[in-house]
Amino acid sequence: MVMVKVSAGRLRIVLFCMLLLFFILVPSVLSHAEEASGEALTVGVPLDRCPVFYEDPETGEIVGIGVDLVRTVAEREGYKVTFRFIEEETLKKALDNPAYDVILPFGSAIKSESGKDTVVSNNLIQTPFTLVTDGKRKVPELSKLRVGMLGSLGAGAETVRDLYPGIEIVFYDTMEDAVKALRKDQVDALLHNSYVWSYVLQKPSYSDLEVQPTAMFSMDFKAGTPDTPEGREIIERLNKGIASLTETYRQAVVLDYTTRRLYQKTFPDYLYENKVGLILGGLLFIALILITVFRRRALRLEQEKEMLWLEDHDSLTGALSLTGFRKRVEELLRAHPDIPYLLSYNNIKNFKYVNDSLGMKAGDALLRYWVSRTKQTLSEEEAICRIESDHVAVLRRSGGDERLKADDQEVVDSVRDFFLDLGKENRVQICGGVYVLAPEDYQKIDVDHMLDCARVAEKRVHDTLKDGYEFYNPDQWERGKRVADIVGRLPVALQSGELQVWYQPQVDYSTGEITGLEALSRWNHSTLGWIPPMEFIPELEETGLIYDLDSFVWNRVCEDLKRWKEQGHYRFASVNLSRSDIREDRDIPGYFRDLVRQYDLSPDQFRIEITETAYAKDPELLIRTTEELRALGFRVEMDDFGSGYSSLHMLKEVPVDRIKLDMHFLTETGDADKGQIIVGYMVQMVKSLGMEMIVEGVETKEQAEFLKSHGCTEMQGFYFHKPMSAEDYEKLS
Ligand code: C2E
Ligand code: MG
Ligand code: MG
Repeated sequence: MVMVKVSAGRLRIVLFCMLLLFFILVPSVLSHAEEASGEALTVGVPLDRCPVFYEDPETGEIVGIGVDLVRTVAEREGYKVTFRFIEEETLKKALDNPAYDVILPFGSAIKSESGKDTVVSNNLIQTPFTLVTDGKRKVPELSKLRVGMLGSLGAGAETVRDLYPGIEIVFYDTMEDAVKALRKDQVDALLHNSYVWSYVLQKPSYSDLEVQPTAMFSMDFKAGTPDTPEGREIIERLNKGIASLTETYRQAVVLDYTTRRLYQKTFPDYLYENKVGLILGGLLFIALILITVFRRRALRLEQEKEMLWLEDHDSLTGALSLTGFRKRVEELLRAHPDIPYLLSYNNIKNFKYVNDSLGMKAGDALLRYWVSRTKQTLSEEEAICRIESDHVAVLRRSGGDERLKADDQEVVDSVRDFFLDLGKENRVQICGGVYVLAPEDYQKIDVDHMLDCARVAEKRVHDTLKDGYEFYNPDQWERGKRVADIVGRLPVALQSGELQVWYQPQVDYSTGEITGLEALSRWNHSTLGWIPPMEFIPELEETGLIYDLDSFVWNRVCEDLKRWKEQGHYRFASVNLSRSDIREDRDIPGYFRDLVRQYDLSPDQFRIEITETAYAKDPELLIRTTEELRALGFRVEMDDFGSGYSSLHMLKEVPVDRIKLDMHFLTETGDADKGQIIVGYMVQMVKSLGMEMIVEGVETKEQAEFLKSHGCTEMQGFYFHKPMSAEDYEKLS
């Protein structure tokens, strides 16, 4: 009942105390329960030691051989372990960070950065350190080895130095730098623990690196912490756990991590692995680009060519346009100044009627036919153009009347009959004007002017009732024809005897004796009759054919001299050497030397005349040739002295044997008396210079006497003898 008497106030106090007790006790019970599931242990480990310590890329957890071993050991000792990456640069620095309870890995106890002592656990596992080389090189003796290590392996490096005192260690921040140094031969090998190598060497670009089979040494793998009572307690507890680890378990952990393909390939790794394919792909790509570029360029060039073609051509007939014709004519005249050309302007008289009555198509067909028919008769050096509608111009070689007639028959006749042949009653009428190109047309090329001239002639035909063609400049045509007849006939004339060698005797007036002969060509042309040298020689010189004539003359002269010599007459003959016979690429002296040898003559029998004007044009070559000729024993004479403008200068410069003065040049025009006085002084001057002299063109006794009175007796001229054939000369002597 006493109990019942307990007051309500007291009851309230008891209840309050019980509640208080409950709130105090429950957390402590709970905390004890937590303690029973494990004490927290923060373990600091380095970042870069896959597969010993690394972050699992999928879960983000810290895993590895070291992690598994430490976790097992610690958990067996009741710890709940948390792993943290060490952010400090070295383990020494990390030892000073109270956030870690223990740190891994240590080989032995070291001092912290601030100088604190440490305690380390027993060895968790032996880690073998092996060398890696680049495969090509032989590793030198260990005592002379230069070895590369990562800077974070400070403790490992100290062990190496202790074990191999002669070794040189170079530190690198990253594995990449270390491998580069190895490849550059800056170190002989790299050193790291073999578990790390099992990971690192999975990188494709390191496939050439080789792990040396024997380990250099093994390092202990211990946990460490500052030497404090708490630290010592942790280490002691861990040592207990370590003691319980079996070797089989250790190996199982190592095997598990080292056989995993942990290496995560990077983009550069993929590039490296597929380099052949990439190179080929790259090349293919470049090739494709190049092909595309070239094809585009070719296409563009093709288009440009086509546009140019269209600009220069007439699309209906394929003939040149007026623009194209102007260009082509210029080209041809520059390239072939030696070809005699004529330019014709042609027009169909009744073309409008053709179009009106037979239709445009018929007109077009006629034009196409006309052009194509003409083209068949043209060579590469000729050209055809459609100026507009039915106006066609042609530049063609001037082949004389025969070619004109042939073209008329071959082309114009068939065009005239174009519709008649198709069974229609229209006869086409073609009017043409022909302009024969003069030498000045090759100098100053004016195609429009030539076309205008040809058109004027065409108009004259057009205005009559007839068709056909007319010349704008018939004189030029005649002249051209004559030149063509001369030049074109030369080869035949040399064979047929049309071309002959005549001789004009040279006399000594004081004795009346013939002292020499000048060989002069004579041409009895089959159609033109006798043509004078003054007409055909310049044409042959211009066309480069003079050498053919001259070598014919020289041979004939030698033949005659030889024959006369055999008949007992030792004679001397002069031949004319044209300026264009002497060329850099032609050995005239050598030719003459062989020629006289061939005919068994003495060089002094063969005299060579070179005109004064030739010396003026190319003095250097001519003087050299003269010297060479004289050195071979030939006599060289300067022909037509006084005909040029620099006669007196020549007299001084040119090393000839004899001067040949032409009376004609000085007496033919102007005051004959004055001319004679000049001749007199010239004779005296030449004699005073100690040179020989002959005067040609002597026509009268007075002239002969006059020359004699001035001391010149060597003469040549009609007064004595006119040029004559060899036979006539033989009769004379
Ligand atoms: P050239 O060498 O000065 O020859 C002298 C020219 O004067 C010759 O003319 C001759 O017939 C002419 N002649 C001679 N005596 C007299 C005279 O008293 N009065 C007049 N008026 N004329 C006289 P040709 O044979 O007509 O030759 C003219 C030129 O042609 C020559 O002048 C020579 O330079 C050249 N020639 C002649 N034949 C040949 C040849 O075979 N080859 C070369 N390259 N040129 C030749
Ligand atoms: Mg002469
Ligand atoms: Mg002469």
